[in-house]
Amino acid sequence: VGRLWDAARSGRLPHALLFEGRAGIGKFLAARYLAAGMLCARGPADPCGACGPCRRLASGGERGNHPDLLLIDEDLAGEEQIRIARITPRPEDPNYVPELCLEVFLALHPMEGKLRVVIVREAQRMNAAAQSALLKTLEEPRSGTLLVLETDRTAALLPTILSRCVRIRFDPLSRAQCEQVLRAEGVPEEAARRLARIAEGSPGRAQELARNGTLAVLEGISAAARGLRPALEVAAELWEIEGEFTGRTEGMRARERARAILDAVLALARDAWRLAAGAREDDLALGPLARPVAERSTAHELARRGRFLAAARADVERNLQPTHLVERALLVLAEGVLPAAAGVRSGTSPGFVAGREVR
Ligand SMILES: [Zn+2]
Repeated sequence: VGRLWDAARSGRLPHALLFEGRAGIGKFLAARYLAAGMLCARGPADPCGACGPCRRLASGGERGNHPDLLLIDEDLAGEEQIRIARITPRPEDPNYVPELCLEVFLALHPMEGKLRVVIVREAQRMNAAAQSALLKTLEEPRSGTLLVLETDRTAALLPTILSRCVRIRFDPLSRAQCEQVLRAEGVPEEAARRLARIAEGSPGRAQELARNGTLAVLEGISAAARGLRPALEVAAELWEIEGEFTGRTEGMRARERARAILDAVLALARDAWRLAAGAREDDLALGPLARPVAERSTAHELARRGRFLAAARADVERNLQPTHLVERALLVLAEGVLPAAAGVRSGTSPGFVAGREVR
C-alpha cells in the first residue's frame, strides 16, 4: 500500500488495480486502507486520522461515510451475484439505485478533493453482463478515479478485465501472524493456535472455522476415522455442534453446515493421503490429526476414499439430503465403505456396500 501511495504522489498510480489472493487474508482491508490514504487531506500517505476526510471515513463503521468512496460489497452472505445495475445505469431495473451505481458515481466530480474511489469486493461475483459493462469503464478511464477489484478467484474474471488492471498478488500470512490476528480478535490461545494452523495463513478463514464449529467437527471425524467411535454415531452428533450458518431457510442452513463438515472430512482425508505418500507432518494443516488416519491405511486406499468424498462434497449442490451425505462421507472416511449407485438401495441398509465400489 505504501508503494501505491508513492506511485500516486508521483502521478503514476494506475486507474484500475486488482488485488488477488486467497480469501480472508486482508485484500479488502488493504483496498480500504489504500483508499483512506488516498482520500486523506494530507495524502497520498498513511491516513492521518484527524482531517475531515479521515474523520468521515471513520464515522460510518466499516463502510465509512465519505462521499468520494463507493464500496460494492452488498449481499456478501450467500452466493448473490453483483448484477449489471450496480455497474451501469439501468433505470428500468427495479433494483437500480443511481447512488450505488459505479458508472454514475465515477462520472461525478470528487466532492472533497481530488479523487473518486470504487472498491468492488469479491469481484468474481459479477455476472457476465456486469463484467462486460465494467469493461467499458476500464477501457475509457477518467482522470481522478481509482477502481480496486478484490478477488480470490481471478479465473472467474474476463481476460479483457484482467489485462486492463494492474494485478497485485497477496500472499497468505504465516502461521504465527495468523495466530496473532486471532488473539487480537479475542480468540483464546489454544484455539487460536489450532485455528491458525488449519486455516493455512488466512485469518478470515480461521474466523469462519471458529464460527462454524470446525474444531469440534474435526475432533469427531478424526475419532471416527481412527476407529475410536462408530461413524454413524459421530455423523449424527455433528449436527448438534454449535455453529453459525447463513441461509434464508432451514434447508439452506443445513446445506451450508454439510459443506463445512464435508470440507473438514475432505481436508482430513487429503492430509492423511499426503502423509501416506511421504509428506512431512509439519507442512500439513491437519498433520497431527491426520497421522493416525494415515497409519491405518495405504496411500492408494486413501486416494480411493478421497475420490468418493469429493463426489459427496459435490452432491451438496445437487440438493441431496445433507444428513445422508454426511453419513456417507463418515463411513467412507472411517471404513472405506462405499456408496451403492442410486436405485440399488434396499432394506435397512442406507445404501452402502462394504469394501467395494458399486457402479
Ligand atoms: Zn487525514
